[in-house]
Amino acid sequence: MGTKIDIGEVTELKRMEWEKRFIMKDDGFHCPKCDSIIQQTTCYVSVYFREFRELAGGGEVRHVPYPYCPNCDGKPENVSGYIKEPYI
Ligand SMILES: [Zn+2]
Repeated sequence: MGTKIDIGEVTELKRMEWEKRFIMKDDGFHCPKCDSIIQQTTCYVSVYFREFRELAGGGEVRHVPYPYCPNCDGKPENVSGYIKEPYI
């Protein structure tokens, strides 16, 4: 059974923090706790209009790679979040 992860707003800072959780080696990112090789799944990011107070958008969803440790984190089944962009 996978887990559902709700990232909330996906900012550049958050995406940098995802990578900083892990240690870069020659063959890719490793988990600092168990040394497993980090895997990636897809984070489904809904695009919302910045001008609206509520979370509303045109239904666009972007795919962003989300790194996780298969040993410590398990396999995330559904990773989702959102970003806010100008409507224009
Ligand atoms: Zn781990």
